[in-house]
Amino acid sequence: MADEVDRAQELELRQRNVAVAALQAKLNAPLVIVENCIECDDEIEPERRAVMPSARRCIECEQRREQARRQARRRLKRR
Ligand SMILES: [Zn+2]
Repeated sequence: MADEVDRAQELELRQRNVAVAALQAKLNAPLVIVENCIECDDEIEPERRAVMPSARRCIECEQRREQARRQARRRLKRR
């Protein structure tokens, strides 16, 4: 019985170490800044990137997406 508890604790510790290592790797990874829009491949406006470094679409594509999302929501409401 004691052996099994030891083994369970050891396993838990090992899993925790793996999780911590994965988290640290993620935190240490450099922030990837996308320079070109993932949809139209145009350069993302520097002002936009300054405000939102994680932006992956240019303003045009982002607005188009927003609009599509709004329309989809409206369609859902009608039902
Ligand atoms: Zn775009």
